[in-house]
Parts: sequence; structure tokens; C-alpha cells
Amino acid sequence: MSTPTLTVLAGPTAVGKGTVCQYLRENYPQIWFSVSATTRDPRPGEEEGVHYYFVSMEEFDSMIEQGDMLEYAVVHGKNKYGTIRSKVQQALDAGRPVILEIDLQGARQIRETMPDARLVFLAPPSWDELVARLVGRGTESEEEQARRLETAKVELAAEGEFDVTVVNDTVERAAREIARLVGAEQE
Ligand code: 5GP
Repeated sequence: MSTPTLTVLAGPTAVGKGTVCQYLRENYPQIWFSVSATTRDPRPGEEEGVHYYFVSMEEFDSMIEQGDMLEYAVVHGKNKYGTIRSKVQQALDAGRPVILEIDLQGARQIRETMPDARLVFLAPPSWDELVARLVGRGTESEEEQARRLETAKVELAAEGEFDVTVVNDTVERAAREIARLVGAEQE
């Protein structure tokens, strides 16, 4: 069986995608993670070119016009986020397993443009656990939390569109399952 090299990892906001991906980065250096462009401001500790490429709305729009975006979306009704086509292509050409950590709208676009991609849905163990994780993170205002929970409800309903569901019960277990799926870990 040949392993698809492009994997989309999506799931509701605050499900713990960032933590799972951090674990994967530390333990499976052969996996290449796409660094997206975004118009949102950096959070404390976030670095240019590591977590995101932070760009202005004008810069983002000109990247779209030039065909530099493999997919892009307006997330939480506010900022634009997109995958930079040339960088993904370079990693694929180098034969590395590639993970795109993107939202549902982006996952749907990739399904259309790259039908061989595998879509992985990272799910919370329960709705209550998802709420607890979002509130516990403490990085968003109450208004922003409410907005993100609305988005999360819609995102959870899309699970059936994905090829595989991985439950994020513990970070290590979920990460190992994803590593196996992308072919970065022995069966
Ligand atoms: P955050 O602001 O918390 O870093 O990310 C918010 C959401 O944007 C997450 O659900 C994340 O998966 C999504 N996202 C990050 N980069 C991209 C991207 O390049 N494209 C799309 N469609 N969504 C993205």
C-alpha cells in the first residue's frame, strides 16, 4: 500500500491540534509541517516563519492574486489564513510526509484540488472537554471564546467528510496514531 504524502489535519477549535502537532514536531522530525500565512496578530511567543508568516491583509490578497495560496479561508469570521503552495510543493518534491494543520474550509478545498490527500479529523473526547480546553487556554476574550465555540459546533458536524477520525484523548496516543497514518512510524 502506498502512503499518501499529503495529510490534512483539521478539527474543532481548541481540540488540541497545536499540542498534538508540537509533539509530532519534536518526535517525528521527518514530517514537514506547512507554515501558513495569516493576517492575525502574533500571540505571545509566536515567531515569524515558525508558527505563521504574519502578513497584512494587502500582502495576503496579493498572494491570492498571484496564485501562491494552495487554499485559504477566513477563520472565525475575522482573519485570513492560507497555505503557501510553493513551500508545500518543495517538501512533497523532497519526498517528505507533509501535514497541513488547517480549518474545515481549507480541508474541503484541498479535497477538491488534491484528491489524493488524506483528511484526518482530530476530535475531542466529548463536547464538555472541548469547552473546558477552550476556556482553560485563557488566551481569548469571552467574546472570542463564544465566537470560537460557535465555529466548533459547525466543525464537529463535519466529521463524516473526513477519511479518518483520531480522538485526542491523550496527546501522545493521538500523535502516535497520526504518525502511523502519515507513514512516519512503524506499524
Ligand atoms: P489560530 O488563530 O488559533 O492559530 O488558528 C485558528 C484556525 O485557523 C485553526 O483552526 C487553524 O487550523 C486554522 N488555520 C491555520 N492555518 C490555516 C491555513 O493555512 N488555512 C486554513 N484554511 N486554516 C488555517
